[in-house]
Amino acid sequence: MTTYLFPPAPVPSLPIRGLEERYPVKRIFCVGRNYHAHAIEMGRPVDKSVERAFYFTKTPTTLVHSGATVAYPPETKNYHFEMELVLAIGEAGFKVKAADAHKLIYGYAVGLDMTRRDLQLIARDKGRPWDLGKDFEESAVCSEIVPMPGVVMEDAAIALEVNGQTKQNSNVDKLIWNIREIIEDLSLYYHLQPGDIIYTGTPEGVGAVVPGDKITGRVAGVAELSLSIGAAA
Ligand code: MN
Repeated sequence: MTTYLFPPAPVPSLPIRGLEERYPVKRIFCVGRNYHAHAIEMGRPVDKSVERAFYFTKTPTTLVHSGATVAYPPETKNYHFEMELVLAIGEAGFKVKAADAHKLIYGYAVGLDMTRRDLQLIARDKGRPWDLGKDFEESAVCSEIVPMPGVVMEDAAIALEVNGQTKQNSNVDKLIWNIREIIEDLSLYYHLQPGDIIYTGTPEGVGAVVPGDKITGRVAGVAELSLSIGAAA
């Protein structure tokens, strides 16, 4: 029997709607700049005819379930929300063709790719990794996973409010790289596995939150989420 110097960390996981079993999260991938209007507001428009999608990752231990209160994170003065449709992989796949991509889909959730925007932009502009801006404690907020095996989401409203005021309001039909294309492309780089979740990108309207704010959001036909921002730890 394996013994450890100290207790190993628990397996990060998400609840699944209608099931007792939880979805164990293996990896968190995030698509960068996947809505034109958001890419433009970030000052980096996307020309799909000459560019490929790009990705960053978050450590699964950064997961926070919807409904939580998170501490305002350290070393930032510009803590942003990004409302996203989250894809949950249920079957392994490598070099998957877009036409077969639905076979890997277990279901969907909705998530917040919380971002220390000031640190992300310093890193971006200096050509450094994005980790300090993106992969930090409590930065991957996610709802329950909704089983929708084989369903390719192509048209659904996505929206976010802060303290009840609408900040983001779009549709996943505006994804630059759609669900099939994300699976096809990401599976060129990685052997996708059950337990991999993919944040598919945020529409325009991202902005800052401060302690005391409450975020609510949803993707029509999938799920809702909420997050409260607490004092700095
Ligand atoms: Mn994002």
